[in-house]
Amino acid sequence: MGRVKKSGLTDRQAEALRALPSVEELVEMPELAAAIGEYGRELVVDSARVVVERLRSGILAGKVGAAAQLTRLIADEAATVFLPSLKSLVNATGVVVHTNLGRSVLAPEAIEAVVQAAASYSNLEYNLVAGSRGSRHDHITRIITALTGAEDAIVVNNNAAAVLLALAVFGGGRDVIVSRGELIEIGGSFRIPDIMTSSTARLVEVGTTNKTKITDYEKAIGPDTAMLLHVHTSNYKVVGFTAEVEIAELAALGHECGLVVVDDLGSGALADLPALAGEPSVHDSLAAGVDVVTFSGDKLLGGPQAGIVVGKREFIAKMKAHPMARAMRVDKMTLAALQATLALYLKPEEALERIPTLRMLNEPIDSLQARAENLASGLREALGDVGEAAGVEGSAAPAASINVEKAASKVGGGALPLLELDSYVCSVLPSAISVDELAARLRETDPPVIGRIHKERLLLDARTILPEQAELIAKAIRQAFYPEES
Ligand SMILES: *Cc1c(COP(=O)(O)O)cnc(C)c1O
Repeated sequence: MGRVKKSGLTDRQAEALRALPSVEELVEMPELAAAIGEYGRELVVDSARVVVERLRSGILAGKVGAAAQLTRLIADEAATVFLPSLKSLVNATGVVVHTNLGRSVLAPEAIEAVVQAAASYSNLEYNLVAGSRGSRHDHITRIITALTGAEDAIVVNNNAAAVLLALAVFGGGRDVIVSRGELIEIGGSFRIPDIMTSSTARLVEVGTTNKTKITDYEKAIGPDTAMLLHVHTSNYKVVGFTAEVEIAELAALGHECGLVVVDDLGSGALADLPALAGEPSVHDSLAAGVDVVTFSGDKLLGGPQAGIVVGKREFIAKMKAHPMARAMRVDKMTLAALQATLALYLKPEEALERIPTLRMLNEPIDSLQARAENLASGLREALGDVGEAAGVEGSAAPAASINVEKAASKVGGGALPLLELDSYVCSVLPSAISVDELAARLRETDPPVIGRIHKERLLLDARTILPEQAELIAKAIRQAFYPEES
C-alpha cells in the first residue's frame, strides 16, 4: 500500500486501498482452507495476488465497490487456472469452418489415431527395417502423393508457415511477383506483404486491384526475379470489371523464364462436393503446371491444423532441407490425425460420412429441417411450453417463442465468401430478456452454446450442431432461462 501515491486519490479511494487485506492475511483465512486443499497453496497464493492486484487497479480506476467476497473471488480464480481453459462448446452459428471455434472437428478415425500416437512411443523418426534414424515426413508423403498425384509433399505447422517457407526457400533475398488483386489479409496478422517481409523476399506488385494481365507479369520479370506467387483470394471476391490470369498461363510464363511458380490455395478442396464447386482444387492447380501448391489441413479438408505442401520433387526437397522447416515441423499427433483423415479420402463415400466438416457441408436440406424441428421440440419441452409457439393456448407466458425457419449457413474458414448454403435454424425469441442477454447466458452454460443473432432472435443452425448435441442444447436453454434452478 505504501507504494501507492496518495496524491490525486479521493478519500474513498484511499480508504478502499487501505481496506484491502494483504495476500498473506488472505491466504491464512479459514475460508480458503478448502481451496488450498484442492488446488495447492502455491496456486491459491498466486490467485490471491492476482485478485488483490485486480481490485487495486479497479480502485485506482475509480471503481470503489465492496470487496466482501474476496476469498470467494480467490477460490474462483484458482479454479479457473486449474480447470482446462479450452472448453468444448456447441457451434450453432452455421459457419462450418469457424476459425474462432477451432475450425474442424476430427473424424473418429483421426481422434483414435491421435490417442494412439500420444499414448506410446512410435517410429516417428525411426526406420524399423534398417534400425536407424528415419524421417517424420515419410509417414505422410505416400498418402498425399497418392491422393493428389503430386511427386512429393511436406507437411508443416499450418498453411501460413507453408507460404512463409516457400517464400524463404525460393524467394529469399530476391523478387517475388504477386498481383495487386491478391495481396490478401487472412484474419489477424497474416498479410501477404508482411509475410513476404518476414521471409526476406521482396514483393513486386503488378496489375491493379481489379485487373491483372499476363503482360503485367511479363513486364515485371527482371534479373532479380525468383518466383511467381499466386494467392487464392479465399475470403473475398472482386466482382464487376475484372481480369485475372489463369493459373496455367502463369505457370507457363514462369517456366519459360526459369522461375518457381507457387500457388497458395488457402483451403485446398480435395473432395468433390457440390457445395465446394467454386473452390479451386489441388488437382487443378497441379495439372496447370504449378511447381508448389500449399493448403490448410483444418479448413475444407476437415483434418488437424497443418500446412500441406505438394509439388515437384526437386522443389519439395529444397523445402525439406531448409532450416526453417525444422522450426515449423508438425508433431506426431498431427501426423497421425492427418494420415487417418487422408486415408478416409481414399474412399470418397466414407470421407463424406466420417469427416464432420464434409458431412456438414453435404447434409441434405430435408435432414437439416428434420434436425431443426427436433431441436425446436426439445427446446419447447425443456422450457415447459406445450404450445407450438408463444401465445398459443395452453402455454402460459412461455419464456420464449421457438420456431423453425429457413436460413443460410456459411462455409467459413476463408472459403467461398459469397456462397450461402440453404439451411434450417431453430429460432429463439425470448419474451422477458433481451436476445443479447440470452446469447450472453448461453455463452456461460455448460457446454456454452454459440448461435447467431438476427432480428431480435437467436438462431441455432442445424448444419453445425452435431447430432448428439440436441439434448445438451435443450439443457443449456433451460439453464439460460431459469438460472436460479442450477
Ligand atoms: C487460410 C489461408 C491461409 C492461412 O492458412 P492457415 O492454415 O490458417 O495458416 C493462407 N492463405 C490463404 C489463401 C488462406 O485462405
